[in-house]
Amino acid sequence: MLRRMYTFICQASKYKDEPKRLIVLLRWLYLMMAACCIIFIASMRVELPKRIPCLGILSLIVVMIGFCFTYRIRMLKNLILYSFIMLFWIVSFVYLYGWDCGVQHLMFVVLVLVYFAVYDALFRKILLTVGLFFLRFGMFLYCRSHVPVVMLPDEMGVFLQILNSLMLFLALGLICGTYSSNIELAERKLVEYNEQLQMQAATDPLTGIRNRRAMQNYMQSYMQRNYKALCTVALGDIDHFKKINDIYGHNCGDAVLIWLTGMFREMMEDKGVVCRWGGEEFLFFFHDRNGDDVYMILSGLKQQLNRQSFFWKGQEIPVTMTFGVEEYDCHSDITEIVEQVDKKLYQGKAEGRNRIIY
Ligand code: GH3
Ligand code: MG
Ligand code: MG
Repeated sequence: MLRRMYTFICQASKYKDEPKRLIVLLRWLYLMMAACCIIFIASMRVELPKRIPCLGILSLIVVMIGFCFTYRIRMLKNLILYSFIMLFWIVSFVYLYGWDCGVQHLMFVVLVLVYFAVYDALFRKILLTVGLFFLRFGMFLYCRSHVPVVMLPDEMGVFLQILNSLMLFLALGLICGTYSSNIELAERKLVEYNEQLQMQAATDPLTGIRNRRAMQNYMQSYMQRNYKALCTVALGDIDHFKKINDIYGHNCGDAVLIWLTGMFREMMEDKGVVCRWGGEEFLFFFHDRNGDDVYMILSGLKQQLNRQSFFWKGQEIPVTMTFGVEEYDCHSDITEIVEQVDKKLYQGKAEGRNRIIY
């Protein structure tokens, strides 16, 4: 039974474009008001003048109507309705029981709710603030010049103060709790989305490794952090790749690039990082390795390529690469190092390909 009631209260709005949390929050606020009405009806021992209907019962009916409307009408209308009901409750209580019953503080619930819930309507929010201020001030002046319709005995006054304070704190807690978790959620999503975007911007979509820009940033920050560190840069280019594309098709060319990337990843392990520098060119950045070390590592890769061909639809395709290698000398900047390896790479191409120039 309780579970069913809970599910009923937590139902999403029938308008799919409206946030569920907000409508559920409003229902809890209505239920809180209803509970207050019931406590009020049960505890009021003071007779009202005959011309005034029982305020507790009237409020309870109005509150329940408002609650039912949360399943029918749009959020903005619900907010307006809730605000009116709340203000009606406040004004009638102050009129009947005077300033000391403390109900006027519930105006802050309306203010906070509207400020959090209504987006991009600053002017209306300011209008509401000013309106509420004048209403509160008007009630205060009224109470100074008029005695309350019902003179509450001392203990009833204290009881009403406690009831209203409790409702004020509960309602504000509920609203702020809902919205702060909303904001937290939105912030977390934003951070995740941002990370995803950064990742996408830094990754080559075909091979999944770093792209040129990401590599440039990486090398720059690495060199700044380790300005006296030893490192070596190598640029590798697939030999006659155009022919592979022309003979076997572009998809085959793509598959070769992915296949090679797998090998590069295995080779680099913790030695450094590799990126797709351009079409069929890959740049390798080795940490703590001198040119001789890198020459040895790349020789291993070259041998592996010479032993092991790529297969496309049952056909064997030999793939070779040419590399230029340059040890970093602490004084040149990245562009200069890349220029150096590029020169050596083309020297390798000119000398017949499938070789490492160091
Ligand atoms: P070389 O040995 O002198 O490097 O000759 P090459 O044919 O490898 O070099 P060239 O610059 O003439 O051709 C490079 C080719 O790489 C041309 C281009 O269509 C191809 N290419 C660039 N990016 C991609 C890609 O993402 N996928 C495929 N399949 N081909 C690509
Ligand atoms: Mg090439
Ligand atoms: Mg090329």
